[in-house]
Amino acid sequence: MTERSVLDWLADQPGVVGLGDDCYIVPGPMEDQVFTTDMFIEGVHFKTGQAPEWIGHNALARGLSDIAAMGADPRFCLVSAAFPSDDEAWTRRFFQGLLKLARESGCVLTGGDLSHTDRFVADIMVCGVVPRGLALRRDGAKPGHGVYVSDALGTRARDRFCSLVKPRLDLAQSIRGRASACMDLSDGLSIDLHRLCLASGVSATLSAVPVAPGATEEQALHGGEDYELLIVSPVQIPDTIRIGSIVAGTPGVISYRGTVLEPKGYDHFAT
Ligand SMILES: [Mg+2]
Repeated sequence: MTERSVLDWLADQPGVVGLGDDCYIVPGPMEDQVFTTDMFIEGVHFKTGQAPEWIGHNALARGLSDIAAMGADPRFCLVSAAFPSDDEAWTRRFFQGLLKLARESGCVLTGGDLSHTDRFVADIMVCGVVPRGLALRRDGAKPGHGVYVSDALGTRARDRFCSLVKPRLDLAQSIRGRASACMDLSDGLSIDLHRLCLASGVSATLSAVPVAPGATEEQALHGGEDYELLIVSPVQIPDTIRIGSIVAGTPGVISYRGTVLEPKGYDHFAT
């Protein structure tokens, strides 16, 4: 079982719509709403004993990153969480970390569920809004468009349990109405760009990938958890770094400095 095999099967089932983008888009008369949901699990997304404020921050940050990838602004979130102990101080610190990021992002907490379990797990749904018709999907990349990233890559592949995720909501306004496709880099550049190119039916050639200080080129190309934005645009996007171009060719094929780049990023089920 791979994440892809499950998603491909689900997409073919009756009653399933809208899989494949960072958020599901609900059209409205003035603005569209976008929805995403992400889990945060002890032992998978963080290590037992990490600061609860860090856990709360990063649990919400993953959803906010998906909102940014749509070119949207967050509005509200719902948090369902199960806690392994009745340590109320720990629980409050988790929510303090989450709410600090929510307030900084213009997002309010409007509901959810609390429960008890043997190891911490949370699922956070975030809703955002974007002017009608401007939400960015993965299927709009066209040959000739540039490929951009919002910053150097590889930092969190090196040290994913340390740094706070900074969702790139600061770029949402400048990419909507300009970019042709976008997604956030959660699983690694090589696999995420492969997915975007598959959705758009195009290939890409990369010339230079910016490597974060202390990271390796391998980590920048294939390491996950960057939560920077991967943007395709016919025009230059301010404060981003151009790494290559979209070209016509076999959908999903990425070449890097003349050789094919295998999609080697993170799969939750691969062993
Ligand atoms: Mg995403």
